[in-house]
Amino acid sequence: MRRRTVLGAMLAAPAIARAQGAARVVVVGGGFAGATAARALAAAGHRVTLVEAAAEYVSCPFSNEVIAGFRGMDAQRFGWDTVAASGVQLVRASATGVDPAARRVSFDGGSLEYDRLVLAPGVEMRFDALPGYTEAAAERMPHAWKAGPQTLLLRDQLQAMPDGGRVVMAVPANPYRCPPGPYERASLIAHYLKTHKPRSKLLVLDAKDQFSKQRLFQQGWAALYPGIVEWVSLSDGGKVTAVDAQAMTLTTDFDTHKADVANVITPQRAGRIAVAAGVADRTGWCPIDPVSFESRLVPGIHVIGDAAIMGAMPKSAFAANAQAKICAEAVTAMLSGQAPAEPRLINTCYSLVAPEYGISVAGVYRPVNGQLTEVEGSGGTSPLDASPAVRAQEAVYADAWYRTITGAVFG
Ligand SMILES: Cc1cc2nc3c(=O)[nH]c(=O)nc-3n(C[C@H](O)[C@H](O)[C@H](O)COP(=O)(O)OP(=O)(O)OC[C@H]3O[C@@H](n4cnc5c(N)ncnc54)[C@H](O)[C@@H]3O)c2cc1C
Repeated sequence: MRRRTVLGAMLAAPAIARAQGAARVVVVGGGFAGATAARALAAAGHRVTLVEAAAEYVSCPFSNEVIAGFRGMDAQRFGWDTVAASGVQLVRASATGVDPAARRVSFDGGSLEYDRLVLAPGVEMRFDALPGYTEAAAERMPHAWKAGPQTLLLRDQLQAMPDGGRVVMAVPANPYRCPPGPYERASLIAHYLKTHKPRSKLLVLDAKDQFSKQRLFQQGWAALYPGIVEWVSLSDGGKVTAVDAQAMTLTTDFDTHKADVANVITPQRAGRIAVAAGVADRTGWCPIDPVSFESRLVPGIHVIGDAAIMGAMPKSAFAANAQAKICAEAVTAMLSGQAPAEPRLINTCYSLVAPEYGISVAGVYRPVNGQLTEVEGSGGTSPLDASPAVRAQEAVYADAWYRTITGAVFG
């Protein structure tokens, strides 16, 4: 009996110590990276506050399907109720500044002190990178690279376009959010044109010569959309150097292309709070230590998700979720004076070439010489020349992946 009491007290002790001395961790941004980190940090016993500017989260993965008209926007919308129910305090505000010396984050109407800060603000579209492409121009030539009204604008423009119209996409150089995303979008716009406006064409102007899952996409385009999609590489003059939203033209070194619908995916950079916190470098992205995700520029601040420079790891929701869990473990270790363990991270990106035609790429990453590097021999892509049954199966996996990750992060 006596022995049991002692054991009971011993088991209870760590919980009491944790509650009394719980560290204050503030997370800015409640997307795939931030919401995951907040939940994992709360589960580890920290006092976690999540600062999120938006009233709802609108997911980019699967937003290309909305643009192509075969998915409703409601399947993209999520809230943070479950995140709050898992012990995270929510502050609905836009973080505007960070004082690293005082360890304080400020937002409209208040501020919060932290022991560790996790920044996960995603990306900002650059409106200074392409002459003619301003925020006003984006209302005529949507980027649709942040899901929400821009997604619906592009969908509605495609639906309003007469048969025989010309859609032009501008795709940026690396790095940008979701490397295969523009090509999935091109595929699904082509699917929409083929099934609804078969006399129409899609021109893809690219600032690159190579892209993710290229052979798989091009094989799919040749099989499904011959004569509809034309891809112009950098070497063939694909880089868009200016746009005119009034005239609806996109200019390259060789030509000026007139569009009925223009989707201009501009270059991007880390969300603005990263600049205010001093964690973004001259590239506009945030250098981090790939073991702890702590900023290389400002101690005490960790950066995860699209905003950070993750070496070979792509900017994806899958990657953001994986980084967030590792970051939460690293923060926990560092708060108790231990060194974080060296991580291994996995990424998988599914893309649809048509509603029942999926392809994927996967990789495993680890820190080597301060950079996340792909583990040799890991990962790979779907096979070329696969049967329609294999492609259909991958489309089912893609859907299952989306439901699983959004359930884990927001559900
Ligand atoms: C068309 C498209 C398709 C994609 N498809 C896939 C896919 O199939 N698979 C995949 O894995 N990835 C996909 N992605 C990529 C994926 O969307 C991103 O990699 C992912 O959203 C990154 O998560 P994040 O948390 O870093 O940023 P985000 O998801 O952008 O979240 C950032 C959050 O921070 C908030 N925020 C920003 N600044 C502040 C501030 N100052 N104060 C408070 N809150 C702030 C924002 O409101 C937002 O909620 C796709 C992207 C696009 C554009």
